[in-house]
Amino acid sequence: NREVDHASADGLLKLAGEGGFDAIIPDYVNLYAYQEYGGYGTYERVKSGEIPIQSLLDALSDAGLRGLGGAGFPAGKKWGFVRSYDGPRLMTINGDEGEPGTFKDRYLLESDPHRTLEGALIAAHAVEAERVYFYMRDEYPAVLEILRTEIAALEAAELIEPGFIELRRGAGAYICGEESAMIESIEGKRGLPRHRPPYIAEVGLFGRPTLNHNVETLWWIRDIIENGAKWFADQGKPDHPGPRSWSVSGRVKEPGVKLAPAGVTIRELIDEYCGGMADGHVFKAYLPGGASGGILPAGFDDVPLDFGGKLAELDAFVGSHAVVVLSDKDSVKDATLNLLKFFKHESCGQCTPCRSGTEKMVALLQKDGPLDEVAIRDLEAVMRDASICGLGQAAPNPVNHLLTHFRDEL
Ligand code: SF4
Repeated sequence: NREVDHASADGLLKLAGEGGFDAIIPDYVNLYAYQEYGGYGTYERVKSGEIPIQSLLDALSDAGLRGLGGAGFPAGKKWGFVRSYDGPRLMTINGDEGEPGTFKDRYLLESDPHRTLEGALIAAHAVEAERVYFYMRDEYPAVLEILRTEIAALEAAELIEPGFIELRRGAGAYICGEESAMIESIEGKRGLPRHRPPYIAEVGLFGRPTLNHNVETLWWIRDIIENGAKWFADQGKPDHPGPRSWSVSGRVKEPGVKLAPAGVTIRELIDEYCGGMADGHVFKAYLPGGASGGILPAGFDDVPLDFGGKLAELDAFVGSHAVVVLSDKDSVKDATLNLLKFFKHESCGQCTPCRSGTEKMVALLQKDGPLDEVAIRDLEAVMRDASICGLGQAAPNPVNHLLTHFRDEL
């Protein structure tokens, strides 16, 4: 480990204030070490035309790689869409990772950042992006320092033109993890989600067709090209292609980032990847996808965790793969209220169903006496149907599950 020079770390200085603050940069694979093991060899092959662009798109589609920031959109299809619109095109990397309980991207960038960067260069080449904007949350000062250092190293090694990858810092708003709000933020405006259509693949950053990817999505690209689509797909459960990085927290013995197949169940995550429940705790409920993915009871411990499928039938989703395990020591009603307060705080305020809806939902949950379930269900429907973006649409998920599955707590 080494200490960061404060003078070169704006983000750290900001966080440090008067009191002084040392960020520890973890050991990670720098450019020199990455290249020793063939790093950027795949990018060079792609750039030289040895690997045609169409075979890249086919490989991603055959592998079943999906956007791992939360939406799960098929990556190969996304490249195809962006390419179908006339250039010049741009690319963005969403490193905002603001979903509560999610910390996998931080881990990936603090251990092997060049995998994501090489994936980004391959993707940028595939869609002929003129420039890449890397939007990184300011709450990860070590990651920011690593990226500053390694992007400069890429420039010095002449693997990229100076300025080709531009690092932009977020300022702590959850909504800026939503891709169109992130784009507004990069453009220097307040991070308000845009109405769609048009989607950002057609009209994105500075009005140009834009390819946006999450850190982990890009992380897998190099390996998929090197090892083949089948190698990647086979690491998932049947009908759930690929491995995923899961951020697991809560009442388990060994929380952390776990590499496990797509389609893994919560029971497997707890027992086989996290050493079981923490001592003195009995498994009661879990959040399959951070704050927005809902809260399911322990009885649903055999549901394959992936985009769509049985999870969607339960009005839940896996999102950014942030799994939070609750036990008999936790109140689901309290957890729900906590989540709704979070959404109320983070609502960007642009549309009434979300701005006012989250506030009213908190008030309804805090009311003394029995809950007014008719009013709650009405409000839930309005928020789902009429909110502009996913924040307002998904905010009532935990409330829905509280009323459906945890009636003994009402
Ligand atoms: Fe903003 Fe909420 Fe409306 Fe999204 S749903 S645009 S976060 S007010």
